[in-house]
Amino acid sequence: MKHWLFQEEHEALRQAVRRFVQKEIVPNTEKWEEAQEIPRSLFRRCGELGFFGLKFPEEYGGQGGDYLAAAVFKEEVARSGCLGVLAALGVHSGVVLPPLYKFGTEEQRRRYLVPGIAGEKVGALAVTEPNAGSDVASLQTTARREGDFYVLNGSKIFITNGVNADFVIVAAKTRPEAGHRGISLFIVDRRTPGFEVGQKLQKAGLHSSDTGYLIFDNCRVPAANLLGEENRGFYMLMEGFQWERLLLALGAVGMAEAALAHALTYARQRVQFGQPIGRFQAVGHRLAEMATRLEMIRNLTYHALWLFHTGQPCLKEVSMAKLAATEIAHQIAGEALQLHGGYGYMREYPIERIWRDTRVATIVAGTSEIMREIIAREMKV
Ligand SMILES: Cc1cc2nc3c(=O)[nH]c(=O)nc-3n(C[C@H](O)[C@H](O)[C@H](O)COP(=O)(O)OP(=O)(O)OC[C@H]3O[C@@H](n4cnc5c(N)ncnc54)[C@H](O)[C@@H]3O)c2cc1C
Repeated sequence: MKHWLFQEEHEALRQAVRRFVQKEIVPNTEKWEEAQEIPRSLFRRCGELGFFGLKFPEEYGGQGGDYLAAAVFKEEVARSGCLGVLAALGVHSGVVLPPLYKFGTEEQRRRYLVPGIAGEKVGALAVTEPNAGSDVASLQTTARREGDFYVLNGSKIFITNGVNADFVIVAAKTRPEAGHRGISLFIVDRRTPGFEVGQKLQKAGLHSSDTGYLIFDNCRVPAANLLGEENRGFYMLMEGFQWERLLLALGAVGMAEAALAHALTYARQRVQFGQPIGRFQAVGHRLAEMATRLEMIRNLTYHALWLFHTGQPCLKEVSMAKLAATEIAHQIAGEALQLHGGYGYMREYPIERIWRDTRVATIVAGTSEIMREIIAREMKV
């Protein structure tokens, strides 16, 4: 059923992405989970099919579409039930490429955005540090100007695509004494001397998405790789967070939908006490509750997406969507697992991965606690 927010062209895209997900992602998820990364060919394939350029202008290889088209892509990939794949593709296309387009020079757009849209270069965004997570302004990595270079020193943790990325947008302090007013962003090429992947981190879920610990040791970055204005990095990051949080909410909706679909199929098939378990009223009512909460988070998310898409103030609504969708999606995944009984806890059932994967969404891109902080502040509590 078509939602009023989307036009015919969005629905056509939805069908195309759905076919792609079923044919080229779902059959491979186990293999990629095992390998703990997705192959380069998947990035290239998404580039070839135009999925990374949905909302970017044609002159950079994009499709010239809108945020709604990009949202459809994210939601449909999430319906694969493999959040690791979405994390890898989503961070590249939804978190790294937008600031390159918005704040990049023409030269930076040609060098990173165009191959990024084509899926030929993969990017990461490195903000979080061992001692600076929610409190972004307290980050300690420094960038000291030396002639035509900035010299970066510090480390970054939990960086999605950090292990395999061709380039990383790194947040560093150019004026350490100025707090959030002293942060700048730099595009750091993988081969830059002094940039090293310290460790590929092992996670509870999202196995097909690589997560890195990155080290910058006197890493000399050309001054031409400063992204946007010096000392404006914090504001650029905050601007990007709105779209990133919407993507998290959309991903959660897609994952909750996948969880419900698996639960429904299982409830129809599994026979106990002489009948499919779905016929027990307790199970039927549970499924009805899950479906209702799924529609609640979908509509909350679509409402925030509509505000964002139409350029209206939406800080509170996006934070609410991120908070509710990620928390409720994990609850729905847990209930779907419960409905599978012992089989739900087994690796061969996709619900086990969906439950593990949905857990992290309440932590990344601003934790649920931080979302409540923002909402309370917006409410002028
Ligand atoms: C799988 C994964 C992928 C990630 N990918 C990236 C990436 O690509 N790039 C990147 O830069 N980062 C990435 N992150 C980092 C992520 O954004 C941070 O983990 C997140 O911002 C929280 O920071 P923290 O882990 O340091 O927790 P902390 O900030 O230390 O928080 C610890 C706890 O304290 C709570 N807390 C903190 N401050 C407050 C407050 N003011 N009020 C109430 N409670 C508070 C938090 O909600 C949390 O429960 C990733 C993390 C994970 C797990």
